Amino acid sequence: MRCLRCRGMMVEERVFTMEGGIAMARCVCCGDLIDPVVIRNRSVPCSAEARGGRHYRLGIA
Ligand SMILES: [Zn+2]
Repeated sequence: MRCLRCRGMMVEERVFTMEGGIAMARCVCCGDLIDPVVIRNRSVPCSAEARGGRHYRLGIA
């Protein structure tokens, strides 16, 4: 799996949100965090991610 922003390597990371614990993909390069909805949309042109859909950004360095 490659990061949508920088094409860096992504690792699975469990994140706890108001919706509960969910598995997300985190980029080890830029720290971008993508949820499974975005991951499923990766193969779809003009995905929700491109339109500013469910795309999370955490302030971790
Ligand atoms: Zn990245």
